Amino acid sequence: MYNSDWHIHSEASYDAELTLKELISSAQKMGLKQFGITDHANYNTHSFMGNIHKSKCLYEMNRCEGFYLGVELTPISRPLYDHCALYGTMEGYIPISQESPYEIELALSLDEMRELGILYAVGAAHWVLNVPYEQDKIIREWHRQQMYLACDPRVDILGHTWRFWGPDIWCDQEGHYFDKPWFSDFDVIPRSMHDELAAALKENNVCIEANSTMILGERYPENFYRKYNEYLRYMFEKGVRITFGSDSHGPQYHDLGIQVEAALGEVGFKSGDFSSPVIHTERL
Ligand SMILES: [Zn+2]
Ligand SMILES: [Zn+2]
Repeated sequence: MYNSDWHIHSEASYDAELTLKELISSAQKMGLKQFGITDHANYNTHSFMGNIHKSKCLYEMNRCEGFYLGVELTPISRPLYDHCALYGTMEGYIPISQESPYEIELALSLDEMRELGILYAVGAAHWVLNVPYEQDKIIREWHRQQMYLACDPRVDILGHTWRFWGPDIWCDQEGHYFDKPWFSDFDVIPRSMHDELAAALKENNVCIEANSTMILGERYPENFYRKYNEYLRYMFEKGVRITFGSDSHGPQYHDLGIQVEAALGEVGFKSGDFSSPVIHTERL
C-alpha cells in the first residue's frame, strides 16, 4: 500500500529507542523507497536542541539513498517560547493568566532549520493551549492549531490530524478512549472545518498524514477508525496530497503493510495515492 514513511522517531528523540541501523535494515527489507526521521523539537530548550543535533549527527553517519532528515514540530505557547529563548529551559516558567488561548509558536525558526539542514517538517498538534476540557472548545482549539500549521512555511506535512490524547478521565485504565471529545462520533467535527483545512493545505502545498496510530489500532472505538479513514479519503478527494507516517518509536521498526492496506483500502485508497512531501534540498 505504501513505499515511503515520513514520520519516524529515532533514538535521538527523548521518547524513542529506534536505532538507525535497525531502521535502515528494516526499511530495505520492506522495500521502502523513501523514509525520514522526524525527532521531536517540542520546545526551544537546550535539552530539545541537543536531541535535534543528535538526530542530525546520526543522520549524517547513516546517510543512504532515499533517507531524509526531518523534524516533528508542535504548537507551543508564545509566552513559554519566549521564556525558553531567554533561559534555555522551561524551569521557572509561570503561565501567564489570560482568558483566551495562547498565541502559537514553534520551537525552531526557518533559519535554524536551514542551518541544521532539515529537509522537511511534520507539524502536529499535541495539546490544548489554555483551553478548558470542553468538547466544543477543544474542537475549535485543535482546528486553530491545525490551521496555523497548515499555513506556516516551516511545515510540509500536517501530522496525525485530530489526535487528542488525554485527559485520563476520557479513557479506561488500558488507555482506550471511549467518548469525548470526538472518539465515539467523529462527525461532531463540523465539515466546514475540514473544508477550510483542505483549502489551506492545498494552497500551501502541505500534505496530510495517514498516521498509523490514527488509522488502525485499539486506542479508539472501532467506529472511529472507519470514520477517520473516510475523512482522510474526503480530504484526498478534495485534492490534498497524502503521506504515510508510521510514527514508529522503536525499538523495532514494524512492517504495517497488511494492516494499513486493510484499513485504508476499505475507504478506497490505492498504492499510487501516496505522495512525498516537499523536500527542501536548498537547505543542504
Ligand atoms: Zn506527534
Ligand atoms: Zn511523532
